[in-house]
Amino acid sequence: MAINKVKGTYDVLPNESYLWQALEEKIREILGLYNLKEMRTPIMEYSDVFHRHTELSDMVTKETYDFDDRGDRKLTLRPEGTAGIIRSYVENKLYASQELEKVYYIGPNFRYERPQKGRYRQFYQFGVEAIGTIDPALDAEMIILAYDFIKRLGLKGVRVRINSLGDEASRSNYQEALKAYFTPHIDELCEDCKVRLTKNPLRILDCKVDQKNEAIKNAPTPQDYLNHESRAYFKQVLDHLNAAKISYEIAPKLVRGLDYYSHTVFEIEADIEGFGAQNVLGGGGRYQNLVSELGGPDLGGIGFAFGMERLLLALDAENVDFAKERPLDAFVIVFNDDLKTVATEILYELRKANLVADTNYTQKAFKGQLKQALRFGAKYLVILGEEEYQKGVVAIKNTKTEVQEEVLIPKISKYLLEKLEK
Ligand code: AMP
Repeated sequence: MAINKVKGTYDVLPNESYLWQALEEKIREILGLYNLKEMRTPIMEYSDVFHRHTELSDMVTKETYDFDDRGDRKLTLRPEGTAGIIRSYVENKLYASQELEKVYYIGPNFRYERPQKGRYRQFYQFGVEAIGTIDPALDAEMIILAYDFIKRLGLKGVRVRINSLGDEASRSNYQEALKAYFTPHIDELCEDCKVRLTKNPLRILDCKVDQKNEAIKNAPTPQDYLNHESRAYFKQVLDHLNAAKISYEIAPKLVRGLDYYSHTVFEIEADIEGFGAQNVLGGGGRYQNLVSELGGPDLGGIGFAFGMERLLLALDAENVDFAKERPLDAFVIVFNDDLKTVATEILYELRKANLVADTNYTQKAFKGQLKQALRFGAKYLVILGEEEYQKGVVAIKNTKTEVQEEVLIPKISKYLLEKLEK
């Protein structure tokens, strides 16, 4: 019996992997401009890395893949990138050598969510973290980077939405205000939100069950509870964005779905048809307690992550021509079984010259081989026939111009390199 893929996962097939590779290349190229270094952490961590008593988001309380390994250790497949990066930052004492560590990561995350277009149970994110300092210029740099990235990809109709949750004092004032506000509305809230009301009223705002709830719609916003310092900090972030002429909008209701955020939070949203609720391409924000919660010093950081499937869906929906599959430089056509060893020799020579080359392994007639060559977009055909071989030559045909020339076998690579350069 054939076995299918796990629900909520997908395969990247050979004819589409070049899109992923191109996206990853773009990520590395652009992030490099901001002097970010890549970090690779495991996809599994001890559960405590994610299941912290301060983190009550749905993502962590309801959606993680938790399991015991064969040594009875409690492990979790990472649902997001930041916590693992911070775990490693602390474990490797990266703070001791750098005041500010700016890193990025690319990799799969796992969340037990309801699968739909743009929402999977295993999905890729690339993310950025700048850990070690608190500086409004740095918050702005992260937003500028996210904006620049989207622009460089060629996506249009994209909005940067920003808000501030303020420092700890502002946040806790706001939580109290939400508690006071929602208490008389308790009967209008869903069952989960009733619990949230006492434990973490902020999470009521992104309740997935009840988006149209009037009480949620009219709730106070974090901006109303920012203290003087937090307001000044946020203003400075905006000053930097204005200096760089970044277009953004202030989104007073934006709180983001994780509990570790404070001060600046932001999201990149795309107006793409058919995306519905999945129109958020990426987002992030500042975190001030995560490093200390994971056993490190009292240092803050800021980061964001983009969902890579959604980026690819958006690029496709907007018909952005951002990646090309590298076509074959040459396809070797051989009819005579006795000449197949010669074809092997020629192919190896071509590849030694860094040419992309292939041949036929299924003994098709000329027509079939030609079709195969054209399907791979081969620029040249290297045709090895009995008669030519007797003369020590092959026929090389340009598939576009159809011009065909005879070339000495030892000169094939040289000939093609010269032609391809033109
Ligand atoms: P988050 O880590 O929840 O802040 O999400 C950041 C980005 O990751 C989102 O804007 C999405 O683009 C992407 N993302 C989050 N969850 C999923 C998922 N289940 N499937 C696909 N992409 C996701």
